[in-house]
Amino acid sequence: MRESQSGTAGRNVVVVGTQWGDEGKGKVVDWLTDHAQGVVRFQGGHNAGHTLVIKGVKTALQLIPSGIMRDGVACYIGNGVVVDPSHLLLEIGRLEAVGLDVRSRLFISESCPLILPFHVEVDKAREALRESSGAGKIGTTGKGIGPAYEDKVARRALRVQDLKHPERFAEKLRELLALHNFALTGYLNSTPLEFQPIFDMAMLAAEQIQPMMADVGYALHTANRAGANLLFEGAQGTLLDIDHGTYPYVTSSNCVAGNAAAGAGVGPDLLHYILGITKAYTTRVGSGPFPTELPMDEPGTVGHHLSTVGQERGTVTGRPRRCGWLDAAALKRSIIINGVSGLCITKLDVLDGLAEIKVCVGYELHGSRVDILPLDADDIKACVPIYESFPGWTETTFGVTAWDALPVNARRYLERVQSFIGAPIDMVSTGPDRDHTILLRHPYQN
Ligand code: GDP
Repeated sequence: MRESQSGTAGRNVVVVGTQWGDEGKGKVVDWLTDHAQGVVRFQGGHNAGHTLVIKGVKTALQLIPSGIMRDGVACYIGNGVVVDPSHLLLEIGRLEAVGLDVRSRLFISESCPLILPFHVEVDKAREALRESSGAGKIGTTGKGIGPAYEDKVARRALRVQDLKHPERFAEKLRELLALHNFALTGYLNSTPLEFQPIFDMAMLAAEQIQPMMADVGYALHTANRAGANLLFEGAQGTLLDIDHGTYPYVTSSNCVAGNAAAGAGVGPDLLHYILGITKAYTTRVGSGPFPTELPMDEPGTVGHHLSTVGQERGTVTGRPRRCGWLDAAALKRSIIINGVSGLCITKLDVLDGLAEIKVCVGYELHGSRVDILPLDADDIKACVPIYESFPGWTETTFGVTAWDALPVNARRYLERVQSFIGAPIDMVSTGPDRDHTILLRHPYQN
């Protein structure tokens, strides 16, 4: 095990997105991993998309924890994650192709539900049906994540542990496939899938996955007891949480910090510091209400600036992200739900050069003022943002590493956001690289 460089042993940090995902969690997790000996995913699946830039080289991770990019860091996929075996092996192969040692330090919970080809078909067919019926797409990534979680909750899922037992696997697969084929043909205007190719694929994958299967919760507990610092790596964002997000335009898991315990198999007493990641503005991929959204098509507009300078395209889907001003009233809710200990504001540099910067500090809703994002998606749709306005800055903040080196207007903007939301800004990210970071208070040392 690597030595802790922070001088604190057995301390754990949870990293969560506080907006609609894509806040730049990957970069921050990678930065923090210097102080961790284990990194854990606890929810979602390969619908996450973390982009890491290390020494100028871009690597995208979807399922495997970002810690894999650091030698000697153990990586865990907790029980709360849904695993597509084909995708898992593909991603391992991609990382091995660039010379990374993956299999000896990747541990996959036996309790993870599996994503199988019929989940993908159901996901896509449902989105198509919603679109053609006029109900509007949810905006899923079409990777079968939602249908796999449905099977988990319905207590009929095939899990990683079933891969160890070919007969048990075959029996459960036959039943599950029959159910999904019935839905595909009878309701979703799609075609049925065959048993044999799915079974063969799963058994081939099983051989490779079996050596990585583990009792992840117990392994984390033991490692932490022995002094390892752990990092719980959230995917998506709080406003996409299945319970607390803008339902139904949400993902199918709990993305909030509390779920790091249940989704990794450890007690909540192991969640010592919660780091909320917040972009200096707001983006959203897919459908759903977004009060501070700006038009993006017209060159010269703020929306166009955020979209192009921020390179706002989805890592998984390549879809352009919708862009808008920072919504501090939505952030307020995220801070509360996650019990945020400190924030990291990312992509501050994207605001460079804007003459005026706005922050939403509340909404006008049906004639009244509200200070926090409402819970009902229809109410959120009806919200008219109330903005505070700040003068921008002309200097570049790209790559700045010290608070005092930031333009005074950038500091004023951040200080106001901090006082409005009532949580400390402990880090600021000023560029995609590991080193483009301002540290105010270290999550592993407080
Ligand atoms: P995640 O899913 O939360 O990890 O976010 P994404 O990886 O989808 O999006 C973050 C994108 O912004 C990636 O391309 C990062 O390399 C990049 N990025 C992260 N932090 C910064 C920053 O402070 N400034 C700039 N310009 N880019 C950043």
